Amino acid sequence: MSAPAAGDGVGMYDLVSELYPLCRSITGEGLRSTLEVLRREIGVEPHQIASGTRVLDWTVPREWSIRDAWVEDPDGRKVIDFRASNLHVVSYSTPVDRTMPLAELKEHLHTLPEHPDWVPYRTSYYSESWGFCASQRLVDSLPDGDYRVRIDSTLADGRLDWGELLIPGGGRDEVLLSCHVCHPSLANDNLSGIAVATWLAKRLQRAGGLRYSYRLLFVPGTIGSISWLATHREQLDRIRHGLVLACVGDPGPLTYKRSRRGDAPVDRAMAHVLERGGRPYRMVDFSPYGYDERQYCSPGFDLPVGSLSRTPYGQYPEYHTSADDLSLVRPACLEESLETCWRLLRLLEGDRRYLNLSPHGEPQLGRRGLYGSTGGQSHTQESQMAMLWVLNLADGRHSLLDVAERAGLAFEPVEAAAARLREGGLLAEAE
Ligand code: ZN
Repeated sequence: MSAPAAGDGVGMYDLVSELYPLCRSITGEGLRSTLEVLRREIGVEPHQIASGTRVLDWTVPREWSIRDAWVEDPDGRKVIDFRASNLHVVSYSTPVDRTMPLAELKEHLHTLPEHPDWVPYRTSYYSESWGFCASQRLVDSLPDGDYRVRIDSTLADGRLDWGELLIPGGGRDEVLLSCHVCHPSLANDNLSGIAVATWLAKRLQRAGGLRYSYRLLFVPGTIGSISWLATHREQLDRIRHGLVLACVGDPGPLTYKRSRRGDAPVDRAMAHVLERGGRPYRMVDFSPYGYDERQYCSPGFDLPVGSLSRTPYGQYPEYHTSADDLSLVRPACLEESLETCWRLLRLLEGDRRYLNLSPHGEPQLGRRGLYGSTGGQSHTQESQMAMLWVLNLADGRHSLLDVAERAGLAFEPVEAAAARLREGGLLAEAE
């Protein structure tokens, strides 16, 4: 797998900036426009499923289209305007064209009293209603009187879209990378995850010689992953490892949430990567709340899928508010998340089991040119120790990650030692 390219953080940030203005929801034009950008970037293929289709215990909802939405005060001034920010209208709002007194309007206004200048993000996917989101400061300033309220939207039979990209590897085993694509103008949740997944795809497409196939899913939260799972049940046994990406662009420490299994190879691999990454991080156990890992890790599927965030959902004040904007996401933080994922994928690619072909007594390494001639250097000592550990544990049962953990070494020198031993004829890959 090739070396990282420079400027990835800036490239990802530019993608976040490009997608930020689009009014995404779990269906509709903003979602399709987003997938179209991802098709341009990495060749994501569009998929869709019709409204009304039963998927697992759910039904694909009607498609929501929004053209305009505003509130006019008694003097005819637009005080809330969807065109100023797509967060101002509750996602999936039903159409409205009415005049009403302020008291009645206020029943449909959502604010954040603890952050009076921010606008909250609200949805009403599965119950028919309408509403506006605004700053507390604005709502407090509204005079009594009659307000004209207009939401020019449609809820109609249509479809739910998602994007999928398969990067083929050597066998049928797959790594699943998934992120949600259904939030409107919010940067960290969820555009950061989209950007990191897109850049992982670019690297994988350049890599060549992949052992696993990589399946990237860009799905509307919950209903998208449920639709995908419902329509791909026969191939789920291919998924060896998986990762959900969300909230990976803020400056908080990296947070890995283990799979439901808790000790899946992806959980151990990410622990190894984070322990040796030299940066603050947190490991948290699975809980049935969060993003689409909830669906992949539901008991009937129980897939080995973990989740990477920086500050997790709900744990930063800007979460699901207008303050989750382009100033919250930083190129360097996106890049750090990308590098962490990349190290994880490289580890998963290289984590194989080997057999020592000369297991009775230590093989004579010097005769094969495998024993360091310039002793004393610490990196030489490390590579020697890595070779001895690999030889000792290459019994077909221990993977290279097992070796690294037992030896207290990083994965990379252990993998390099295995490569040298293979070249020296002392190691063969186990079945
Ligand atoms: Zn969210």
